[in-house]
Amino acid sequence: MAILSQFDVLALRREFPILQQHVHGKPLAFLDSAASSQKPRRVIETLEDYYRRYNANVHRGVYRLSEEATFAYERARGKLARFINAASQREIIFVRNTTEAINLVAYAWGGANIRAGDRILLTMMEHHSNIVPWQLLAQRTGAELIYLPFDGQGRLVLDDLDRLLDERVKLVAFTHQSNVLGTINPVAPIVARARAVGARVLLDAAQSVPHMPVDVQALGIDFLAFSGHKMCGPTGIGVLWGRREVLQAMPPFLGGGSMIDLVELDHSTFAAIPARFEAGTPAIGEAIALGEAADYLQEVGLATIHQHEQELTAYALERLAAVPGITIYGPPAGPDRGGAISFSLEGVHPHDVAAVLDQEGVAVRAGHHCTQPLHRVLGVPATTRASFYLYNLPEEIDRLVAGLHKARQLFA
Ligand code: PLP
Repeated sequence: MAILSQFDVLALRREFPILQQHVHGKPLAFLDSAASSQKPRRVIETLEDYYRRYNANVHRGVYRLSEEATFAYERARGKLARFINAASQREIIFVRNTTEAINLVAYAWGGANIRAGDRILLTMMEHHSNIVPWQLLAQRTGAELIYLPFDGQGRLVLDDLDRLLDERVKLVAFTHQSNVLGTINPVAPIVARARAVGARVLLDAAQSVPHMPVDVQALGIDFLAFSGHKMCGPTGIGVLWGRREVLQAMPPFLGGGSMIDLVELDHSTFAAIPARFEAGTPAIGEAIALGEAADYLQEVGLATIHQHEQELTAYALERLAAVPGITIYGPPAGPDRGGAISFSLEGVHPHDVAAVLDQEGVAVRAGHHCTQPLHRVLGVPATTRASFYLYNLPEEIDRLVAGLHKARQLFA
C-alpha cells in the first residue's frame, strides 16, 4: 500500500525513541496505542526538564522555582483548555486518568444529585471505568443503572433511547469511541435526547481526544474525561472537563491541602474551581508534559491524525478480512469506525495469537480489554486487539496479517 498521509510518517516516527528498537530481532511494530501511546522526544524532554531545572511544589512558594513550576502548570491547563475548546481554563481539572475523572463525577456530582429511584443510562460497550463508579454510586444511593444495547455491527441501538430515556434518567454516560469495537458513537442525537428529559451527559473520551478533533462546546455535553498517557503524554495525568456552572455547584471529591478556602477545627470552606477538585500536590511535571503533548498533536493536526488512522483502519479491515477463520468485531470501514480492531481467530486463543505476534515484533493486546459485559454480548471471553495511532505504517499491518497466518499454522 502506498504511504497515504498528508504528513511524513517516517519522519514523525523518528521523534519517538522507543519505536527505533527491535523486539525478538524484529523492528517493533507497536499496535497497542489504545492501551497506552508512545511518547515523542519533546514530551520526554519536557518532563525531564521540569525535574532537572525547576522542580518545586506549585501554588505555594514565593521563590523563583516554585513560581516557574506554577506558571508552567497553569499554562498547561490553558493548553488543555484550548485543545478541547473549553470556554475557560478553570473548567480543566487535572486528575490521574479517565478512571479518576469518572470517579470524581460519580462521587461529587453523583452524591449531590442522585437519589433512590433515579436512573443512570450507560451503554453495553462501556469500559469498566465507565461502569463500576456508577455501580458504586447506585449502591450508595439506591439509583438504578440501565444500558443501551449495540447491534451486530457494534453500533448503539439509538431507537432504544425512546424506551430507556424518561425523566427518571439523571445522567447519560457513554464512550465517544469504543476501545474494542472501534465504533465512533454519534454524540449529537444522544445529547439532544438526554437534554429533552433534563439529564446531564458525560462523555468518556479516552479513545477520542487522542485521535480526532474534540470540541466540548460544539458537543454540548456536561463532562468529558480523558487520559494523558493515551495522547502521547505521561502516565499519572488526565483531565476532567466540566461545564463551569456544573462544576461550580459540585461539592469536593477529595479533601486536603490546596482545595480549601478556610479551615477551622470543626469545618472548612472550599476553594473555587479548579482548585476545589485538585486536593494535594498534583502531578506537576506530568501536567506540564501533557501540555507539550497537546501542542505536539495540534501541530501535527488532529484532523490529519484522524484521516491517517481512518486510512490505516480501512486497509487493516480489508487485509484482515482475508485471513481464514477470522471474526472481526465492530462496524465496517467508514466515518464511524475508529482505529481499534478486535478479532477472534478460530481455534487459536487470543493470548496465543498475541504471543506469536510478539515473536514477530508486533505488539497487540489480548484479553477482555476491561469490557467484560461487552465481551459477553459478543459471546467470547476475550479477543485480540490491534490499534493504530499517528506513527503506524501500512507495513506494520502487513506484518500483523503475516503473523496471524503463522498463528493459524501453529495452532489451528
Ligand atoms: N475508557 C476507555 C474507553 C478506555 O479505553 C480506557 C482505557 O483503556 C479507559 C476508559 C480508562 O483509562 P485509564 O486507565 O487511563 O483511566
